[in-house]
Amino acid sequence: MKYISTRGGIETLSSAQAIKKGIANNGGLFVPDHIPLLTDSLFDKLAKMDYAERAAEILSLFLTDYDKTELLIDCRAAYANFDTNPPAPTVKMGEGKYMLELFHGPTCAFKDMALQIMPRLLSRALKMTGEKKTAYILVATSGDTGKAALEGYRDVDGVRIKVFYPVDGVSDIQKLQMSTQQGSNVSVQAIEGNFDDAQNGVKRIFADKEFNDKLREQGYILTSANSINWGRLAPQIVYYISSYIDLYNMGEIKRGEQVCFCVPTGNFGNIFAGYLAYRMGLPVKRFICASNKNNILTDFFNTGVYDRNREFYQTSSPSMDILISSNLERLLFYVCGKDRTSNYMKQLSETGRYEIAEQELEEIRKIFVGGYTDEDGTLSEIKTTFQDTGKLIDTHTAVAYRQAEQYAEETGDKVVTVSTASPYKFAASVLTALNKKVKGSRGVLSPLYELSDQTKTAIPAPLASLQGKAVRFSGSISKEAMPDSLLD
Ligand SMILES: *Cc1c(COP(=O)(O)O)cnc(C)c1O
Repeated sequence: MKYISTRGGIETLSSAQAIKKGIANNGGLFVPDHIPLLTDSLFDKLAKMDYAERAAEILSLFLTDYDKTELLIDCRAAYANFDTNPPAPTVKMGEGKYMLELFHGPTCAFKDMALQIMPRLLSRALKMTGEKKTAYILVATSGDTGKAALEGYRDVDGVRIKVFYPVDGVSDIQKLQMSTQQGSNVSVQAIEGNFDDAQNGVKRIFADKEFNDKLREQGYILTSANSINWGRLAPQIVYYISSYIDLYNMGEIKRGEQVCFCVPTGNFGNIFAGYLAYRMGLPVKRFICASNKNNILTDFFNTGVYDRNREFYQTSSPSMDILISSNLERLLFYVCGKDRTSNYMKQLSETGRYEIAEQELEEIRKIFVGGYTDEDGTLSEIKTTFQDTGKLIDTHTAVAYRQAEQYAEETGDKVVTVSTASPYKFAASVLTALNKKVKGSRGVLSPLYELSDQTKTAIPAPLASLQGKAVRFSGSISKEAMPDSLLD
């Protein structure tokens, strides 16, 4: 299988090359040149496998240049770091209502699903392509990616990693998680600005040829760990298929029965991986794209207009506070083709806006529907869900669960809500939702202890262990200073 750019051009790469490179020469994102099929016999085979085996099996369809035995070794190692078995369980919430829990990894957010395996894929890619230089991973994060990437890449051979985050755009816990990161090859830097400033800064660095030459002379090649990298996206296809198979094995659905997935969305990476599973043949009726108050995607799915000229809000679900959903470009590629996608992306960078054609919107709306939950709705969803089911959910999951419940009520469809973070990662907001105050002063971790006391649930070990860890990275810089901080 070969990888091509969403914006066309002649660049054609193997998956190892695409994973090493991150972004295409013309600024486009890499996509597979065809989509493999989820056949009946493959379904039967997967149904008898555990998660790591399913992951290796599905990844091998896309990463055809990788050795399948090595893929299985890597998947086993990656998903052994999770505190549940299976690592991504599908839990029944009520009749026709399910939660796909993706937060049982070492950093308690769904990014672990990809970032525990991706460094292993990159490490192999460097060997497979005979790379002698050090891969320098650049990450812009709105919180969860940064920690998950640091944790995934720390002390991996042949790799350095630098993470940029918006100084006021992440939670205290996220900040503490990143600033205390261990590892000899890691660096963390706060940026004055919002997530888009950090992400655009990283994109500019990638696009700056002169700067890249300078780094190369010093023995480094730049690559990304953001969800624009194919190595991030591919592992995310797995849990959609795996969750469907689990529902089938649980007797909740018949073979071939359609289900819906409701996904709390920011950069559009998670939900796009689901779309690829659907294109492989997974019986999905609809993807519900759930946004918070930054509802640019809701508007897009309703009107076909993507317009980032709007106010940016900081919400209680910061990992979704995004105005440029980079992976939407990949969906445009499949629906509108490379030329029109190129054109839309050009308009977006020049005017901050584009409008797709009517028939393109119609095509997209056959499978996607958008909806958003405001701040009050998010908090009240956490409260009612806890009261009604005893289940504690985080702010991001709550944004989606509210949309899922509304959609299910209107349609009667079975809906799997994708749960993307542990409630403990956003403990202060969850406590507010439950009308509880934070008592005592046990530092940044006070809300976690309080939440644990109040709900009689346990703090996940990776968060509890933050207590007393030394801060290694502090201070903030302007976005203009990002390239220099890299050379330092
Ligand atoms: C990253 C993240 C999201 C958004 O996922 P995208 O792939 O960027 O759409 C949602 N929830 C949480 C908790 C996240 O960390």
